[in-house]
Amino acid sequence: MLTAKDVKQHGLRLGADMVGIGNIGRWQGAPMQMDPKQIMPECRSVIGFVFRIFRGSLRGVEEGTQFANYAAQGYGGISYLHAPPVLRQMCRLIEDEGCEAMPFGQQDEWRAIDNPGRMKIRHSVPVAPGKPLPDVILHSRIAAFLCGLGEIGYSKMFLTPRFGPRNRVFFVLTELELEPDPIYDGPKLCNRCMACVKDCPGKAINPHKTVKATLAGHEVEWGELDSQACDIAFRGGGEISHDKPLPACKEYVFGNVHRSSWSPFYKKPQNIYNTGQAVCGGKGCIRACMISLEGRDALENRFKEKFRRRKPWSVDWSLYAHMDEEELKKVDYSKEVDQ
Ligand code: SF4
Ligand code: SF4
Repeated sequence: MLTAKDVKQHGLRLGADMVGIGNIGRWQGAPMQMDPKQIMPECRSVIGFVFRIFRGSLRGVEEGTQFANYAAQGYGGISYLHAPPVLRQMCRLIEDEGCEAMPFGQQDEWRAIDNPGRMKIRHSVPVAPGKPLPDVILHSRIAAFLCGLGEIGYSKMFLTPRFGPRNRVFFVLTELELEPDPIYDGPKLCNRCMACVKDCPGKAINPHKTVKATLAGHEVEWGELDSQACDIAFRGGGEISHDKPLPACKEYVFGNVHRSSWSPFYKKPQNIYNTGQAVCGGKGCIRACMISLEGRDALENRFKEKFRRRKPWSVDWSLYAHMDEEELKKVDYSKEVDQ
């Protein structure tokens, strides 16, 4: 029978960067729509897998010259190309032992709750009284915490001791009983430096309001995230604040009017691998946080050179504000590029 040690060795061999295990008892009291036992009633263990986002994949966004690499290789590619085969192979090993195993990757589109955790209206109905709405979804950052892989930062990003916020996390739910890992108890990663709040282009991370949760007996707290503000800003739309009307910001997302100084794109770029455009490149919640953590030498994945090497850029759209679409087409952008 596979042991926890075997599972972790196989996970790393197959291509995950970190593997941790949580026993199902840690989800006791979880909301029904996020309870793994609602998905697999005989689930005994949740295996968590961390896939690193390469620091190099953020380089082009940092320099302002190449945005697709992070969106593709740091985001959608991990979710849709790299992680699924690892989860699948792990499930094969477990089911060969006669225990059910469910690879749990990116299947958010069918979930019954939206990003802020609200029930979607007229989305689905319970199949029987007392059952949750299809689809139940795992709260991936909480699940990663319960698998002992790291902590939840003020930004609500999952921070690991190896990569800080440069992670994507995935899971296998299984009937197999496995020895759980302890909840992360290493050096504190988030020191509430608030660099994430300051650098978030959408002002999506609330500097004052927090969310508190008790997870497996541990008190956890993070900054309230305005997921709608993030959703627009990370696609390159303008900043949302409570004194700025939302429609003006949404126009960028659904049209081409409101552009932000942190996006060089005239129109919203296409999705890559079915994910958002990730134009902001995690400006606050990944890059600023990583710079802060690396500056404190808090991460195990160390680099010879610091990440931020040049002054952060911003686009001056006022240069183009007076031009209509036809005039913009005639601009010789090569003159604006240093040769
Ligand atoms: S930037 Fe600072 S406050 Fe924000 S999550 Fe990272 S360490 Fe925590
Ligand atoms: S993805 Fe961008 S907009 Fe969203 S929280 Fe992170 S830094 Fe802010």
